[in-house]
Amino acid sequence: MLIDGCGRELTYLRVSLTDKCNLRCRYCVPPEGVKLLEHADILSLEEVLRVISILTSMGVSRVRFTGGEPLVRKNAISLIQKVANLECAPRIGITTNGVLLDDYIDYLVYSNVRDINISLDTLDPAVYETLTGEDALSSVMRSIQSCLVNGVNLKLNVVPIKGINDENIPSLAALARDYNVAVRFIELMPVGCASCYEGLSNDDVRKKLSEVYGKESLCETEGGGPAEYVKYDGFTGNVGFISPMSHSFCDKCNRLRLTCDGKLKLCLASPECLDLKALLRAGASDEDIAEAIRDAVKNKPVRHGMRFTDDRNMIGIGG
Ligand code: SAM
Repeated sequence: MLIDGCGRELTYLRVSLTDKCNLRCRYCVPPEGVKLLEHADILSLEEVLRVISILTSMGVSRVRFTGGEPLVRKNAISLIQKVANLECAPRIGITTNGVLLDDYIDYLVYSNVRDINISLDTLDPAVYETLTGEDALSSVMRSIQSCLVNGVNLKLNVVPIKGINDENIPSLAALARDYNVAVRFIELMPVGCASCYEGLSNDDVRKKLSEVYGKESLCETEGGGPAEYVKYDGFTGNVGFISPMSHSFCDKCNRLRLTCDGKLKLCLASPECLDLKALLRAGASDEDIAEAIRDAVKNKPVRHGMRFTDDRNMIGIGG
């Protein structure tokens, strides 16, 4: 078991496979772009597998691949297959923009990927292109259909932003009316270039949805995660709310993050981390690395108090 300094059990790891992305979402990538890491500074897939193997042997039971866009990392699927075959195999998820997902869905399902989150902020093709820089909404919709056909546990993540996609909130929620998916609204966090935009609080989103879909009824929370789920009359799936800005859930945080350059981040909002790449490349044994992790997590911040002090953009952290 991996326990931090305030007794929280750390069971969930988010792994950023790359800082590259095939979209340029305005709130994630600054207009001037980001300076990409040198190839040598990025963990090899063997190094990523080794870190995951060490952490799963220490009690991490869920691993989610993210990025950048995880599906643009060459051989991501072969890594995921190896993770699925680890002795302490975790439950595996992936967070993707969905643009390439349709090409890989069969491999992911075959590799036991049970949880797929697709980020989708609008159903309007013109807004999608303005927000992401690409005319790719139809590819994402195809991927959603493939997930539904394959029966994966599908969640659609929406970040509502004033003046950009706030008009699209009811139509996005309607996907949970029509399909067996969870549509989750995530409050915009002021990370890097996102601080130029104004997000909506989930209290406002809920008010908007109740005006359209009527009274919400609360559902059981899933897997102890930060989302609160509700259902509206006649809905097949659930609607979820992740509210890091208006409702802190640090006291229940069970997360660690591995950035693609090998930093084990202890908290999304703060720069504190353990440089695992340095240890891996200095020839540390698995036991040495496990010991260093056990020591580092003692300093996982108690809470972030909404102060985002890491100067990376979300694309470099792995949201
Ligand atoms: N490319 C993948 C994708 O689009 O899902 C994975 C990486 S992306 C950084 C992961 C998630 O972070 C997306 O759902 C995105 O909307 C969310 N995100 C990015 N910046 C954010 C911010 N400032 N506040 C809240 N969520 C953010």
